[in-house]
Amino acid sequence: MVPSQVNEIEAIRSLLDNHRRNDETIGFTPTMGYLHAGHGSLMAAARAETDVVVASIFVNPLQFAAGEDLSSYPSDIDRDSALAAEHSVDYLFVPSVAEMYPKSSSHDDGVLTSIQIRDLADRWDGESRPTHFSGMATVVSKLFNIIGPCRAYFGEKDFQQLAIIRTMVQDLSIPVEVVGCPIVREADGLAMSSRNSYLSPAERQAATIVRRSLDAGQAAIQSGSLSPGGVVDAIAEMIKTEPLAKLDYAAVVDNQTLVTPNEVGPSSHLLVAVYLGKTRLIDNCPAYL
Ligand code: AMP
Repeated sequence: MVPSQVNEIEAIRSLLDNHRRNDETIGFTPTMGYLHAGHGSLMAAARAETDVVVASIFVNPLQFAAGEDLSSYPSDIDRDSALAAEHSVDYLFVPSVAEMYPKSSSHDDGVLTSIQIRDLADRWDGESRPTHFSGMATVVSKLFNIIGPCRAYFGEKDFQQLAIIRTMVQDLSIPVEVVGCPIVREADGLAMSSRNSYLSPAERQAATIVRRSLDAGQAAIQSGSLSPGGVVDAIAEMIKTEPLAKLDYAAVVDNQTLVTPNEVGPSSHLLVAVYLGKTRLIDNCPAYL
C-alpha cells in the first residue's frame, strides 16, 4: 500500500501519538529522498523490527554550504513513494523548508538553535564540509523530536554521520536506539548514493575506483602493512590509477573515535572521499575483512 504522505509537523505528531497510545513501536529512517535500495534496506530493517514505519524526505538546507548541490539535489517523490510502498512504509513525512524552519531571523537559514558536536564533526568530511555535520545533527535531532521513534535506522555508508548521531543521542540522552545498517552496493561495488545520478557515463564507470581503493587498503593490511600512513598511501596510489578520479582524503581511523590509531588494529576502519568530476563520493570499510 502507498504510504500516507504527511507534510505538517502537527499532523504527523498526532497520527503517531495515536499509535503510541496503542503501545505500537515506531521505526524511523530519515532521508533526503531520491531513494534507492540502500534506503530500502533501512526501511526493510525498520519494517522487520517495529510496528509503525516512518520515512522522512527532507533536503536540509542547513547541511549544505554555499556552492554545494542544494539546488540541484535530485528529487522524484512519485518514485520515492513507490519504493517506500514496496517496503510497506506507513508514513512518508515530507515537510517543506518553511515547515521545518519557520522562524524568520537575521540569519539566512532562519535558525537560532543548532547542535554542535566537538572533535568528531571537525575531522575528515568535516574538514571538507565545515558546517555539514552541525546542520545534519540539528535536523536529525529535530526529526527525532517530531517523530519520537523507538529505533532509528542509518546507513554505515555515511560512517562519520552514524558516529556523530550515536554520540549526539548519548550526550543529549535522546530516547532512541540508533541502528546502523550495512552499505548496499551496485553489482560492480559502487556504494549506492542519490548523488551517483550526477555522474556522466564515463565517471560512473570510473567510480568503481572508490571501492577498489578500499580493497587496496585492505590488501595492504592483509600483507602486513600496519602503519596507517602506508595504508593511506596504498589507497591514494590506487585512486591515482584512474584519471577521472581525484582523492579528497583517505584515512585509517578508530571506528568509535574516528581518530587515526598508531597502528592498524581490529577496531580500525578505512574511510575515503573521492571526486569524480564535480561529484564527491564517500565510502568506507573495516580494516580487516
Ligand atoms: P541520504 O538520503 O543520502 O541522506 O541517506 C539517508 C540514509 O540512507 C542515511 O542513513 C544513509 O547512510 C543511508 N544510505 C545511503 N546510501 C546507502 C547505501 N548505499 N547503503 C546503506 N545505507 C545508505
